Amino acid sequence: MEKVLVTGATGFIGLHCVQQLLEAGYAVRGTVRSLSREQEVRDAMTKAGTSDENLELVEADLMSDAGWPEAVAGCDYVMHVASPFIKGVPKHEDELIQPAVQGTERALSAAINAGVKKVVLTSSCAAIVARDGKGKTHFTEDDWTDTSSNRTPAYYKSKTLAEQRAWELVEAQAGDQKTELSVINPAGVVGPMLSRDIGTSNAFIAEVIKGEVPGCPKLHLGFVDVRDVASAHLAAMTRSEASGERFIISERELWFKEISDLLREAGYEKSPARVLPTWLVKLLAIFSADLKQIAGMAGRATYTPADKARKLLDWQPRNVEGSLVETANQLIDEQLI
Ligand code: NDP
Repeated sequence: MEKVLVTGATGFIGLHCVQQLLEAGYAVRGTVRSLSREQEVRDAMTKAGTSDENLELVEADLMSDAGWPEAVAGCDYVMHVASPFIKGVPKHEDELIQPAVQGTERALSAAINAGVKKVVLTSSCAAIVARDGKGKTHFTEDDWTDTSSNRTPAYYKSKTLAEQRAWELVEAQAGDQKTELSVINPAGVVGPMLSRDIGTSNAFIAEVIKGEVPGCPKLHLGFVDVRDVASAHLAAMTRSEASGERFIISERELWFKEISDLLREAGYEKSPARVLPTWLVKLLAIFSADLKQIAGMAGRATYTPADKARKLLDWQPRNVEGSLVETANQLIDEQLI
């Protein structure tokens, strides 16, 4: 039985990767920061109806060398999913950048030293779409976020620098037996939560349906269901044509207003109907850490088509509009908010 290490096994995406790998017949070793959360991960598998017999959990922190060689030992593949993903803006950008970059160095170096066949890294569209130049609306896997701009948010820098470090480490390998790398760059991820932690990206749905959002900023981003993000990881892991490639993973782009409208039509009446002018979003961003993250993207469309994943990974995602409503329903039905 082949074994896969999944870093960040407690997380929103990490849990779905663990679940799909177990269902596909792999043995899975997951990393957690503390084994005190082991039961949470096992309960999530039970909730999904998946046996946890072939699951083991080990401790490893992105900010410490301890445990990484032991975590990768005997693994055929690594999915490096863990990275800090918080709401709002950190006090200092290094709070995000250091764990992202150093954690990638630790996970990738351990994998390379142990002779792991392939690493699948969870990067982000955040490593693709942020740039100072105005006017660009359509992005592909050839694009990179500009980390030199002081307008690029810390999270975007953390994902870009971490992914760039992963490519450097893989390309620096000598010898015939090289660890391969595939990178998954998801857009905004929504969909079912396997634990009671609703995660950072589903939190905006909670805010919209609770009526905490005064209006719709003119934001236009890609979205994708978490189950389709996990299946893209598995496809990239097993397909040889995915090696050395990065893949945008997005089902479709939606304006914030379109999301709010479809939630209102699904019965969530507090979802805002009015559009906030971009000048107001930028003004309010001076006082709001959450708005500061998105203010730079307000007022323009951003397209991140996943044509490459559809073709090379034979990736066929579900309609994410259904996932948005499903997520709202789960938040209410399971009293997660
Ligand atoms: P979560 O916050 O749910 O998961 C993040 C995971 O990383 C958790 O398991 C967390 O562990 C772990 N982690 C964070 N810091 C450390 C650390 N110092 N040491 C060890 N583990 C750590 O986020 P998501 O599941 O949404 O995100 C997973 C990945 O996907 C991230 O790399 C994120 O950047 C990327 N991504 C997410 C998108 C989204 O919309 N959700 C979009 C694009 C990319 P713990 O539970 O202990 O905090």
